Amino acid sequence: MRDLGIGSWPARRVKNGADRAALVYGDRVDTYADVERRTRQLANALRAAGVRRGDRVAYVGFNHPSLLETFFATAQLGAIWVIINARLAPAEVEYILTDSGASVVVHGAEHAEHAARLAHLEGVRWIGVEDGFEEFLAAGGTDVIDEQVGWDDPAMIMYTSGTTGRPKGATHTHGSLSFQYFTALVDTDFLRDEVMLAVAPLFHVAGLNTMTMPTFLKGGKIIIQHGFKPTTVLETIAAEGVTSMFAVPAMMDALALEPTFPGTDLSSLRNVLVGGSPLPDRMLRTWADRGVAVQQGFGMTETAPGIYLLLNEDAFRKSGSAGRPHFWVEGRVVTPDGRDVAPGEIGEVIAQGPNVMRGYWNKPEATAEAIRDGWYHTGDLATVDEDGYVYIKDRLKDMFISGGENVYPAEVENALLDIPGVAEAAVIGVAHPKWGEVGHAYVVLAEGATLTPDDVVAALDGRLARYKIPKDVVFVDQLPRTATGKLQKHLIRTRLEETA
Ligand code: ATP
Ligand code: MG
Repeated sequence: MRDLGIGSWPARRVKNGADRAALVYGDRVDTYADVERRTRQLANALRAAGVRRGDRVAYVGFNHPSLLETFFATAQLGAIWVIINARLAPAEVEYILTDSGASVVVHGAEHAEHAARLAHLEGVRWIGVEDGFEEFLAAGGTDVIDEQVGWDDPAMIMYTSGTTGRPKGATHTHGSLSFQYFTALVDTDFLRDEVMLAVAPLFHVAGLNTMTMPTFLKGGKIIIQHGFKPTTVLETIAAEGVTSMFAVPAMMDALALEPTFPGTDLSSLRNVLVGGSPLPDRMLRTWADRGVAVQQGFGMTETAPGIYLLLNEDAFRKSGSAGRPHFWVEGRVVTPDGRDVAPGEIGEVIAQGPNVMRGYWNKPEATAEAIRDGWYHTGDLATVDEDGYVYIKDRLKDMFISGGENVYPAEVENALLDIPGVAEAAVIGVAHPKWGEVGHAYVVLAEGATLTPDDVVAALDGRLARYKIPKDVVFVDQLPRTATGKLQKHLIRTRLEETA
């Protein structure tokens, strides 16, 4: 069969609906025809710069149309796109460029300093999105690239979020990514007239793959916002009639705290997906009160990410659940000896499906550790209810044992967030002579809150079992988080715990 690669999408898309708006960025509107022309030119330019099949082309930057253009153009050549977290420091970007062996790096406007500081890297060409990109692209020819790309060819190396340590390069093929997109289209009600707001970072798996790419497949409109500004997001939803959006819980919380939130017309939103970290009950309630059925998605970079999805129709009924496995995905929750858990029992989520990565780039041991007997081991813990709905508990790594009982910090954090005056909370387990381990809570208070640490502990009394209640509560100004607001527990340990 002819080229099935993701690079062929723009050309396929213009067969029907060439003049429809594809990418909107501020005042800039690129139609599907524009995207087709520009990515074809960019592919030619990259080829002229020496990029060949299998080579790596990196992108580091915040959300911008050029991020997607670089993906499509790289894919057209059968080369591999390396997408880098825009928040990483130069030394961290250097690690990824060296690990992946990228020869071209397209960088966002904010990353000129990265380019300057990493100029010593040999054989790497830097192109700034606002500094040379248009010229580079315009100089490319207009030939149709006739590279045949198949589903088994690698398409993308995306590094994990680095929540628990150094990011690992999950390598996805055109097939594993395509199945993620098909899965999204099968399980969620995407329309051709979708107005999708791409405001979550596109350099993370959910921001890119759960809605943005599926919307492109349908020929809908993708509104790209460079960074997350809550007021702008609310204005855009109302003004543009945004129908779908992926967000992380921290973003949903921030939107709900905006003074304009209660007055914003949210009636166009019908396909909101939230995931990436635990969804606090208070967040689900706030949005439900505004009539928005927040669907929960669960997955990871390694699985592109879809494993579980709570369908729209279940969003209120099974609120708090991550739902059931996606169409092509087998998801199981198993005990350490490999048995499926009984309802209510806790186990690790393992998954199998065509959307699972091929492996970690350059890391055969880590790959063998993660994919065993054909099952990807997520390292996440969950329970299943009588109806087969899955509830994510926490990461295996973050669970601790106090007085012989398992404690899932996410559950304690959820309870802390329900206390009026608590804005943010993180709990870690630390060694204790009597109980083995006990919880320490780090709390950021809401503005104007007058709680004491004892008040916080008292508020949990009766709500959580004694062994779950943190033995120590420390107020801090902020908590270490990733670009998508995930709590970096290892940094809480090294930065906060050891200085406390
Ligand atoms: P690293 O692997 O580098 O430590 P990371 O695991 O945070 O970082 P991602 O692949 O972006 O990198 O995130 C996947 C993880 O996010 C999952 O393994 C899970 O722990 C968490 N997660 C995703 N969705 C949910 C959800 N709905 N509820 C709770 N946790 C979630
Ligand atoms: Mg991970």
